[in-house]
Amino acid sequence: MSNFPETPQLVDRFGRTVDYLRISITDRCDFRCMYCMSEEMTFLPRAQILTLEEIEFIAQAFAELGVIKIRITGGEPLVRRGVLGLLERLGQIESLNELVLSTNASKLEDMAEPIKQAGVKRINISLDTLDADKFKQITRTGDLSQVLKGIKAATKAGFEKIKINAVILKNRNHLETIDLVQFAVDQGIDISFIEEMPLGVVSSHDRAEVYYSSDLIKADLEEKFELHAVADNTGGPSVYFKVAESNTRVGFISPHSANFCSTCNRVRLTVEGRLLLCLGNEHSVDLKKVIRANPGDMEKLKLTIIEAMKIKPEKHEFDLTEQPIILRHMSATGG
Ligand code: SAM
Ligand code: SF4
Repeated sequence: MSNFPETPQLVDRFGRTVDYLRISITDRCDFRCMYCMSEEMTFLPRAQILTLEEIEFIAQAFAELGVIKIRITGGEPLVRRGVLGLLERLGQIESLNELVLSTNASKLEDMAEPIKQAGVKRINISLDTLDADKFKQITRTGDLSQVLKGIKAATKAGFEKIKINAVILKNRNHLETIDLVQFAVDQGIDISFIEEMPLGVVSSHDRAEVYYSSDLIKADLEEKFELHAVADNTGGPSVYFKVAESNTRVGFISPHSANFCSTCNRVRLTVEGRLLLCLGNEHSVDLKKVIRANPGDMEKLKLTIIEAMKIKPEKHEFDLTEQPIILRHMSATGG
């Protein structure tokens, strides 16, 4: 007999219900975005990362505990071999309302259609500039034309929603925001601007120096667009505005200027199988250890996850003037 009530829920000490899991399925990537990775990266050996079967098993446990939304991310999730099969199997978990994906779009031209067929409803695509040279500078190895082809293929595949995510850095791409919003309007898709978070040590820039706040971005955009505040019911960290006379919403994710922790509904599974309770803290539980020590034991795994809710921190503390206290990069985290 199961130890769990009929509709189990993951609730933390602060009364927040966790119903959203983000899973990093690889720490590898074909790009080296300057805010996310160093130029030279050492990636994890295979034995240290979860197998696709292990990821599926953990996802199933979360679904049985009331998680209704899963985001597959990375690193670049589309570079992991077998990702389409994984998406298909996750797409079949009945209680999941939403299976979503974050990608840099470099492989979307060929993969958009099968990803949609697998049951992915919405995708987020990173795009920080429409200037090919700046794109190369920011991603170090990326090719803008390939990404634009990927976005076109995604629009054609007919996802419920496509959203661009742009990390804005002063003097790198802060003058690109109007063009990016116009692009989103032209494509009939959404866009969110993200303040850079101090995750992992990066060599290319001083994070305090390149800080460009959401308020500044919004003021820049209002020189060209009329933005109307909209109530958002997704429970996420974005504050949204509708661009007048368009279908496009512009979101602002502001970890520094507007802390969003009180409504946090999410946890993250790192590529190494650590359940991370907060993006801005190191509190975590090693689920890989639990499933490798107790193969196939779903109840044990679920109890471990329920227990883990007790250490979900109240909020993150990012300080741009200090060396990062969080040494893992976003790519290993499930950003
Ligand atoms: N490779 C995929 C992509 O780029 O969309 C998925 C993984 S990536 C780590 C997920 C998101 O995290 C991207 O939108 C990226 O821009 C964002 N990101 C990476 N490092 C960040 C940082 N230091 N601060 C804020 N956002 C960051
Ligand atoms: Fe790769 Fe995404 Fe990180 Fe860029 S943000 S380096 S695309 S994982």
